[in-house]
Amino acid sequence: MTETLRNFIGGEWTASGSKRVLDVHNPASGEAIARVPLSAQSEVRAAVAAAKAAFPEWRETPPLVRSRYMFRLKALLEEHFEDLARTVTLEHGKIIDEARGEVRRAIENVEVAAGVPSLMMGYNAEDIAVGIDEDCVFQPIGVFACVAPFNFPAMVPFWFLPYAVACGDTYVVKPSEVCPTSQSRLFELLDEADFPPGVVNLVNGDKEAVDALLTDPDVAGVSFVGSTPVGKYIYATAAAHGKRAQCQAGAKNCLVVMPDANLDRTVAAILTSAFGTAGQRCLAGSLVVAVGDVYAPLRDKLVAAASALKVGDGLDESVQMGPVVTRKSLDRILGYVESGVKEGAKLLLDGRKVKVDGRPNGYFIGPTIFDGVRPDMTIAKEEIFGPVLGIARAKDFAEALSIIDGLPFGNAASLFTQSGKWAREFKYRVPCGNVGINVGIAAPIASFPFAGMRNSFFGDLHGQGRDAIQFFTDRKVVISRWF
Ligand code: NAD
Repeated sequence: MTETLRNFIGGEWTASGSKRVLDVHNPASGEAIARVPLSAQSEVRAAVAAAKAAFPEWRETPPLVRSRYMFRLKALLEEHFEDLARTVTLEHGKIIDEARGEVRRAIENVEVAAGVPSLMMGYNAEDIAVGIDEDCVFQPIGVFACVAPFNFPAMVPFWFLPYAVACGDTYVVKPSEVCPTSQSRLFELLDEADFPPGVVNLVNGDKEAVDALLTDPDVAGVSFVGSTPVGKYIYATAAAHGKRAQCQAGAKNCLVVMPDANLDRTVAAILTSAFGTAGQRCLAGSLVVAVGDVYAPLRDKLVAAASALKVGDGLDESVQMGPVVTRKSLDRILGYVESGVKEGAKLLLDGRKVKVDGRPNGYFIGPTIFDGVRPDMTIAKEEIFGPVLGIARAKDFAEALSIIDGLPFGNAASLFTQSGKWAREFKYRVPCGNVGINVGIAAPIASFPFAGMRNSFFGDLHGQGRDAIQFFTDRKVVISRWF
């Protein structure tokens, strides 16, 4: 019998009363590894009430003391590092080294948030008029919540939660119902770090739980990470209920290769970008734009390198690419492969042929590469979120840029070149929030802001770093004159 996950509300682990329960599967084997309850709205309201009750005392806890909770949490995360990474691989399928990278980034956000005593400092000016001074202070606001996606089940809530609670707010996490076990494990550590009851809360669920968060008058703000249609809905609904919202959404990321690029390094970078985490990253490169005569040698090297990748169970250290997350995802990706073939792209490497020994029920598809992709094809326009890479051709830099301009998304783009002139032009013009120059995955470290542009982001303040401090605080100015 697999474990049914519980909620963590007001410092207590509580079984959900919901009759709606889903199985969570190990994507490498297809076996059920846990059951996740889809909590009722009343359970979400209980979590928000617990967070609201904890707020007055928590906001008055000195930032230095709140920061010490971060140090405690960091020590626990380090102690349980390998176990956390394993949990990520078991529910998500990504290879264990990628899971370690994910947990590392979660820890880095705790480390940055521990700097809250200085990050939250205000500023002041004397004599804004004769004898009058002005101060700006940063104050916590109340209860915040995050709605997380499946693809970084440990890390994504940690783009937000450490900053929120370090700033003096209280928090509710709603993990993805597809990959919920990593947050349960992390909340055991948050519990062990001994935050006062109600400061951090976990509610498992789906749309019903999300809607309860979006409409609860006691929730001050929501951080969302997930697909574009849901992001748009959450942004609009949160705003209609008077909340702050930052919604990081879907992507279609281009990797532009100039004729002067260092080909071997470029191929290695594209491979990790397109096939790492089986293409299920919001920063994954999914369309290579080959400029001029780099096209033929690039194509040949890419296909040779991708076909050599070892696909299998992510817990096997020798494996280089794991399965995709669910049977449903696999079917959606296979649909895109069909559509590519139908619309006339040339299938150079067909991942559908990959079989993994001893794992007949895993959700596997190998690296897949299409050539002759035109910007009007479905596989060039839509987010596939699987290990499918298209190669398009552009006659020059301007045409490559116009392909990116024509996409509705703006999460990430990379340029591979040895020319400072093209690199400068690219970073100046490209309409994307995360830009790589000879880097295939332009993932900002924890002290830098993280978000895209256009249909990849709805909001203004980004996740992580100083933006997070602003999102989780109000700036109040005090103007004083003494007689
Ligand atoms: P998803 O949008 O299906 O789900 C995300 C969250 O929203 C889940 O917690 C889910 O329960 C909730 N949700 C789903 N449908 C809802 C609805 N109708 N109303 C309210 N809530 C709803 O996304 P996913 O499949 O879990 O994640 C993959 C997507 O996330 C991809 O599009 C990827 O690009 C995106 N993503 C973006 C970033 C970024 O930084 N921009 C990072 C990671 C993932």
